[in-house]
Amino acid sequence: MSANKITPITIAYGDGIGPEIMESTIEILKEANAAISFNIIEVGKRIYEQGFTSGLMPSAFEELKNSRILLKAPITTPQGGGYKSLNVTLRKRLGLFANIRPVASFYPFIATKFPKMNVVIIRENEEDLYAGIEYRQTDQTYQCLKLITKAGCEKIIRYAFEYAITNNRKKLTCFTKDNIMKMTDGIFHKTFDQIAKEYPQITTDHYIVDIGTAKLAAKPEIFDCIVTLNLYGDIISDVAAEISGSVGLAGSANIGSEYAMFEAIHGSAPDIAGKDIANPTGLLQAAIMMLVHIGDFEAANKIANALNKTIEDGIHTPDIYNQDSSQKKVGCKEFTLELIKRLGQEPLKLPKANYIKLEHVTTKTSNQNQAVSSKKLIGFDLFIDWQQEFDDLIAMINSIDSEELEIKMISAKGLLLWPHIDKHMMPTYQKGQTILRFIGKGITGKSSHDIINQDKSITNNDIIIMLGKFYSKKIDFIKYEGLYLFGPNNEPGYTSGQGE
Ligand code: NAD
Repeated sequence: MSANKITPITIAYGDGIGPEIMESTIEILKEANAAISFNIIEVGKRIYEQGFTSGLMPSAFEELKNSRILLKAPITTPQGGGYKSLNVTLRKRLGLFANIRPVASFYPFIATKFPKMNVVIIRENEEDLYAGIEYRQTDQTYQCLKLITKAGCEKIIRYAFEYAITNNRKKLTCFTKDNIMKMTDGIFHKTFDQIAKEYPQITTDHYIVDIGTAKLAAKPEIFDCIVTLNLYGDIISDVAAEISGSVGLAGSANIGSEYAMFEAIHGSAPDIAGKDIANPTGLLQAAIMMLVHIGDFEAANKIANALNKTIEDGIHTPDIYNQDSSQKKVGCKEFTLELIKRLGQEPLKLPKANYIKLEHVTTKTSNQNQAVSSKKLIGFDLFIDWQQEFDDLIAMINSIDSEELEIKMISAKGLLLWPHIDKHMMPTYQKGQTILRFIGKGITGKSSHDIINQDKSITNNDIIIMLGKFYSKKIDFIKYEGLYLFGPNNEPGYTSGQGE
């Protein structure tokens, strides 16, 4: 055995081509003496059809709790009928915060437009718009909440740096849209810059996600590892897989603090199931990532080298077969046997695998252990559904007095409507969701970010009293957001209105 400790692994054979490529992968793992043992669970189509809408039986989850590592073949998700995505269920229930998707070309042995492409996308997996918290607030307005935590940013970004070191990567690029989302994407970028200082051996840079994605699609070879937020990561990992032109070749890992799940990026390919023509490489790549994760570097290197050697020798399944660069067209079973024959050999032209033990010890504290910033409530934004004219709104607000609060701003969709310097410049008022910003009297000056009295604050009761006044005037308020100042420097925890 290549490592002393045997790690138990939970295996799911999945649907469609799942069983064929899983059998191939298990055979190779066994022949490479990987230090693992196997327990099988059933997930997917048959389980969905038995009425388990998550595609997973409770007993399978209990089994997973023991091994904490799942190697999963693709499954077929039935369409309609209230079935939930098994991947989303597993990601949420197992706390899998990082999705890792390496995509590399096998040029010149497999045809590709991007011969030098070798990029790893590291995607935050739990936060962002994927919390799925959405509301319809007015006839016209729908809202989806983008939730980002400092601890979540730190966890994924630190993981990305550690991944880069363990996998002999040299550069980590961060993608955000913090020119627009200064607070949510801003904290991701800021955390990236802070943590980067602890890893001087890794070169870092940052791209705004739109130009970054364009560069990735046109010149993927300029990237090494990319770390990004959930939605952008979801999109760019598909861009990367698509341009590599090799859906059957890439694996992916979903990593959490306690659990980890490894799988091929492709689906269950029902069109070729049972024909012995599926390419097992994607699942095998996932298995290699799993071996690196559990620290069995010897088996990981052995299998990765044999895989590259097999591809280099032109032994190709039909999906990658090409008359110019292939030597022999083989099925899944024969590919497996050819690869097993090459265990112990190294590729001559394709890169040699060199996974190393992570000597680097993380001593850093997480944000969760750091002191919580003080926060001070100074006002609130009241979201109302206003269906009358704008001048009527002003008149209504003027009729409300408060000893504690003053109206500082009216906006809609982030755009300032009042106070306006020039009435002719005011945007056309579209009735519906309108935001009224109230701040404690005398706390701010010209704008809501201009703090002139640092010592004053308001209470939640001041807000309740104001809400009562709106209620008595029969105004439909949708929600409110507190306006806070954070830390010793009284940093505003809210954006200013566009044009404020
Ligand atoms: P797919 O990835 O299964 O197939 C797309 C195309 O690629 C097909 O022509 C297929 O034959 C080919 N292909 C895929 N993997 C291959 C391999 N290893 N070797 C050779 N050719 C391969 O995508 P799809 O057809 O859109 O989805 C089929 C089913 O898979 C759906 O039920 C879908 O929900 C499910 N799916 C599951 C997962 C997962 O379990 N992680 C991921 C994606 C899709």
